Amino acid sequence: MLIAVYPGSFDPVTNGHLDIIERASGIFKHLIIAVGKHAGKDPLFSTAERVEMIKEATKHLPNVEVDWFDGLLADYVREKGAKIIVRGLRAVSDFDYELQMALTLKKLAPTVETVFMMTNSKYIYLSSSIIKEIAGYGGCIKGLVPDNVEAALRRKFKRG
Ligand code: ADP
Repeated sequence: MLIAVYPGSFDPVTNGHLDIIERASGIFKHLIIAVGKHAGKDPLFSTAERVEMIKEATKHLPNVEVDWFDGLLADYVREKGAKIIVRGLRAVSDFDYELQMALTLKKLAPTVETVFMMTNSKYIYLSSSIIKEIAGYGGCIKGLVPDNVEAALRRKFKRG
């Protein structure tokens, strides 16, 4: 059974991520979305909140599981018996970081392949950080994130 892991911060999940998730779930038997704690990043949403939001947004996809991990992705992937890592590529600016990640992973887990999927052209400019910036200033993010994420952002910034 071909198990793939799509790791990321997903702070929060956007329609760009969701597009990759939907396409990857059509290719692989089982897709695990793995929310990373990401040392050095100060997330807006807790790991539990991010996991819950992705669960809600992917409940129509029966072969998608949502999980979180702490520590090395290479160890997590091994533990899950996965052979594939899925990552999304937007512009050339993503390339350096993704190359570094993929080559590091190859060193730590040589039997695991990183597979890249090109962004949907509709979402080429879309990132979690731009969403947080727009939402923080009260701008409209409809159509850029799942409805439950839009509501969660509204709540978060109202409170803040
Ligand atoms: P990380 O902090 O690990 O890069 P992100 O949550 O920002 O996590 O992104 C996870 C993955 O999804 C990355 O491979 C990133 O390039 C990809 N991604 C993010 N936004 C988009 C988008 N709009 N279209 C396609 N891929 C995307």
